[in-house]
Amino acid sequence: MFEKETKSIFIDGTWRDVNSDKTETIYNPATLEPITDVANGGANETTEAIEAASKAFKVWSGMTGRERSRILYKAHELMMDDAERLGEILTTEQGKPLKEAIGEVKGAANFLLWYAEEASRAYGEWIPSSIKSKRLLVIPQPVGVVGAITPWNFPSSMITRKIGPALAAGCTVVLKPAPETPLSAIEIVKILEKAGMPNGVVNLITGDAEAIGNTMLKSKDVKLITFTGSTKVGKYLMRESSNHVKKLSLELGGHAPIIVFDDADIDKAVSLALASKFRNNGQTCICANRIYVHESVQEAFNKKLKEKVTELKVGAGNEDGTKLGPLINKQALQKVEKHLADAKANGAEVVTGGDKWDGGLDGYFYQPTILANVTDEMLIMNEETFGPLMPVQVFNDEDNVIDKANDTDYGLAAYIFTETTSRAIRVSENLEYGIVGVNDVFPAVAEAPFGGIKQSGIGKEGGHHGMDEFMEMKYISMGIN
Ligand code: ADP
Repeated sequence: MFEKETKSIFIDGTWRDVNSDKTETIYNPATLEPITDVANGGANETTEAIEAASKAFKVWSGMTGRERSRILYKAHELMMDDAERLGEILTTEQGKPLKEAIGEVKGAANFLLWYAEEASRAYGEWIPSSIKSKRLLVIPQPVGVVGAITPWNFPSSMITRKIGPALAAGCTVVLKPAPETPLSAIEIVKILEKAGMPNGVVNLITGDAEAIGNTMLKSKDVKLITFTGSTKVGKYLMRESSNHVKKLSLELGGHAPIIVFDDADIDKAVSLALASKFRNNGQTCICANRIYVHESVQEAFNKKLKEKVTELKVGAGNEDGTKLGPLINKQALQKVEKHLADAKANGAEVVTGGDKWDGGLDGYFYQPTILANVTDEMLIMNEETFGPLMPVQVFNDEDNVIDKANDTDYGLAAYIFTETTSRAIRVSENLEYGIVGVNDVFPAVAEAPFGGIKQSGIGKEGGHHGMDEFMEMKYISMGIN
């Protein structure tokens, strides 16, 4: 599927040759076999890309929303037509089951469609003045050049969720994908190129994260950094953005609770909990990290949960029926092992799983694991595991479980399973999270605002709110006769 080297730096409409002395090898996480080598860019390439994006900003922001929209529509179409192949590439570099990968690509294309539609709808305001001789206008304008830094867990949709609204708003972009998964990024940029994106509007740099990031941070021309990744790097970007008072949009870590109330539909609750915890092998920032089950339904829930978890198939993402692929790398496996060891040392019981998965593949696989007798102090109840461990705790009081759910510095997503409307509303209102799923664990859609509070981030992605991030509201005050 791939040549030995793949061009991965795209500046001002031109793919740069790979400098063979400076490359990064991309590995298939299921087999640890090399896929291809990509370019290892740094400060020089990023500076050039920012210059190209600044020049292109004049052209792109001067086009009408309709004109920008046509290119985004075309890109959406091209992406949908090629979803299967793009899904295979995604599975090869990231490891998730092919069905999930194709689903991600289609979801990624959907962001392009949604923002193609929004591009023509960036409305301003006409504010009724309290003074007769004045007229007050508010007009939205694109912020300028955007630096987009994306993670490896959703190599396709995290890109379009950022660059879709940025481009629709009239911004130009310098994109830095995760070093583990540049291949999906390359495909997206090729699609935009094919769709007729003018030169310099989208630029791609793979390579040294710190050098690329620092060049974006130091540049006065980069007006906004949009980032998805760890809270640690997010805080760093926030600190360094203060030098030029850059705008920021940050999607950081999470520690999502699921609360299963006594009035939940247990079959539904089990299948939703599984879907939330084991999608992408637990490597999503909105994955369930801890499950609280009401004592009156715990027996039924736990029995069914164990049955279902035991049936989950682990393996390479491109094998039929695989539900859990490999973890992304060795550090990810080590974190899972650390959380499990800590839980066991402090009294947790392994209900099922609890070890590496050995199916004859070299990648970093782990068994889907349920833990009982977990306590609040354990690492697993406080830090993001980003792996297939599911700690389950019993509760008996609504107020108390809400306090426990809120007792974290994170505030991205929380889930409640209940069949009672007033409880659904009451508890949703009291959860300190940016997103609450009520009998729903897939809240991320193109048309709705996704984003965390507390240390889970700043700003929203998706919906018209997602486009607001990339625009400044200019106020024009006019005196008239
Ligand atoms: P993870 O640990 O899940 O990989 P990171 O926050 O380290 O999360 O990575 C998310 C993205 O941020 C990746 O594209 C990564 O290369 C990038 N990144 C990591 N460190 C820096 C940095 N100092 N400056 C800019 N980007 C960075």
